[in-house]
Amino acid sequence: LSNSCESVLVYLDRSGGLRKLVEDCKPFNDAQQVEAVYRFCISVNPYDVIEVDPVLGDCVLHDPLNATALFRAVCFLAIKTLSLVEKIHTENQVNVILKLTHLPPFPEYVLDLCNFPRGYGPMRPVSMEGLVIAMTRVTKYTQGARFLCINDDCPCSTGFHHIRVHAPGATESATVRNDFTCMICSSQLKEDVKFRVLGDKQLVELIHVKALDVLTAHQQSSLRYQSVNLFLRDELCNSMRIGRLYRVLGIPAHVHQWPNITWNPCTFSCNFQNLKEATAFSPWRFSAIVAHYFGLDVTPPGLYNTLKLGLLLSLVQTRADEKNTFHNLDLLAATTDTLILDR
Ligand SMILES: [Zn+2]
Repeated sequence: LSNSCESVLVYLDRSGGLRKLVEDCKPFNDAQQVEAVYRFCISVNPYDVIEVDPVLGDCVLHDPLNATALFRAVCFLAIKTLSLVEKIHTENQVNVILKLTHLPPFPEYVLDLCNFPRGYGPMRPVSMEGLVIAMTRVTKYTQGARFLCINDDCPCSTGFHHIRVHAPGATESATVRNDFTCMICSSQLKEDVKFRVLGDKQLVELIHVKALDVLTAHQQSSLRYQSVNLFLRDELCNSMRIGRLYRVLGIPAHVHQWPNITWNPCTFSCNFQNLKEATAFSPWRFSAIVAHYFGLDVTPPGLYNTLKLGLLLSLVQTRADEKNTFHNLDLLAATTDTLILDR
């Protein structure tokens, strides 16, 4: 560990990271408010790290959480040794974000959803080139929070021993919750809310650059592309625009788990089976044909296609016996001709 820390220090010194740390500390001394954690962004070029220490370089590329912990330990040591911020008492209060400048140009560093482990796989940085198709407005998330032990005799009832910091892929409840217990006396921990640090976050939906070929219909293949949700945090908020292409570099994580989605084996009628086989070469044709003919008695084939497809999806999603209507797919249709819609 001490060898790696020495390498981190050499790298920070060579890359100018140490000088930047000194600069970044200055505004924290001016501010009146005392906070639970202080955030530092460190730009890291993996190639340069490998030149300093191949083991550390490997850690940066394959075990970012561990690498972040090493950089955090060195930053805390520098802050204390050089008396950069008096308000920082423990290493827990130093929130280090490593920003990798590059990744090696090999396939294993490119996000491949087909091979991405469906579970909690290893968390390491990968890159993806994609088009922004949707984004949310900027909202708040908890960057860090201070917790105190409710047992007055415990050393953790004061000070900065229990600090929780947002980690990549973590949900809000992983950072702030009311059932954490003290590591020393196992009593309950209570958040000291006046120390909570909030940051900005924005969700961006990105679709793989290759999906554009499918959308332009030049390619007659059965490939499907799943969009990816990207979390932009803090200084990265509002840095992307809808419709533009970006190469992003991040750590993939399973954030939302939908326990209600199940795959039920079911039997199709023979006609459906034949239709499905006949249209297997295209990802869209089966649903398009089914929607085309849906509701034949009400409207002729080909009319209200989008509405028919919407109704079909709603029927598939909504089960009559389901008491919980939260996951039902609701439809809103607007038209000047209400007669057909009523039918
Ligand atoms: Zn305690």
